[in-house]
Amino acid sequence: MTPLIEAKELVRIYALRHGPFSRPSFVRAVEDISLSVFPGETLGIVGESGSGKSTLGRMLLGIDPAQGGEVRFEGQPMPRLGTPEWRALRAKMQLVYQDPLAALDRRQTIATQIGEPLDIHRIGPRESRAGRVEELMAAVGLRPDQAGSYPHELSGGQRQRAVIARALAARPKLLVCDEPVSALDVSIQAQVVNMLSDLQQENGIAMIFISHDLKVVRNLADRVAVMYLGRIVEEASSDVIFQSPRHPYTKALVSSMPIPGKKLEGRVILQGEPPNPAARPSGCAFHPRCPVARDVCRTTTPALRQIEKGRTAACHVVSDSAAMAA
Ligand code: SF4
Ligand code: MG
Repeated sequence: MTPLIEAKELVRIYALRHGPFSRPSFVRAVEDISLSVFPGETLGIVGESGSGKSTLGRMLLGIDPAQGGEVRFEGQPMPRLGTPEWRALRAKMQLVYQDPLAALDRRQTIATQIGEPLDIHRIGPRESRAGRVEELMAAVGLRPDQAGSYPHELSGGQRQRAVIARALAARPKLLVCDEPVSALDVSIQAQVVNMLSDLQQENGIAMIFISHDLKVVRNLADRVAVMYLGRIVEEASSDVIFQSPRHPYTKALVSSMPIPGKKLEGRVILQGEPPNPAARPSGCAFHPRCPVARDVCRTTTPALRQIEKGRTAACHVVSDSAAMAA
């Protein structure tokens, strides 16, 4: 099967100036990332803030152009940002951000905004537009009488529902959700996540779900990629990642989440500074915080490699199970 979206060796570097006359330093926000997502599948991308998750999400949609590597959508190279080809593709791939208020226009009613993609992509006859907007509002749990509301008249959760309805309007094949519930009240996060998951399954949409909240990702994702300072350090099915993490960073992340009924051989506490993309350590970027680091970790970046069927990891110390079995 062809992946719906496929990234190969993506690189994104930012120049960071500390003052008007200072020389820039370079931040490698995304480095050598390859991944693929198949139709209908959910890939969770987890990592602390500053790990490059959001940049990666925008790169996958061509919003942040890659400086190295390539993205393919349905087997075709991603068109350049802003070209008519790219704009046409945007009907098939949508982004849902963390902050619904910033995503919405405060001077327009939500019905107008939910229907906007239908106009932009000229989907369906004009006469059917109101009906489709009504249908979308119902799908995300908004009441018909809220159609004429402005964003500030809705709650945070309702605004995010409106954003999701707009994202679904053009019947996309891929939804990239970047921390879609982390700005919402904890009490409504689960409702919005469950709704997203139901809509995704009903419509056969693939989803890339970016989050620092491991609990949410565990419930939602089929596969999980763990990022640390711009790189994927481990990738496997969600069950495998959460039940038997192998990379020292994944182990630390997973051990910090309380899971009822799951025994841990002892918590791995993350030591040292959280990742700072502007001061990337040499070798394995995780080495200053890694409880099992060796000398080689300071000098040599470990490659992401397959360590068992369906699992990749980038670590000098993680042995591969095939070699262990031999
Ligand atoms: Fe730790 Fe070394 Fe593995 Fe990096 S490569 S995670 S520093 S053991
Ligand atoms: Mg982010």
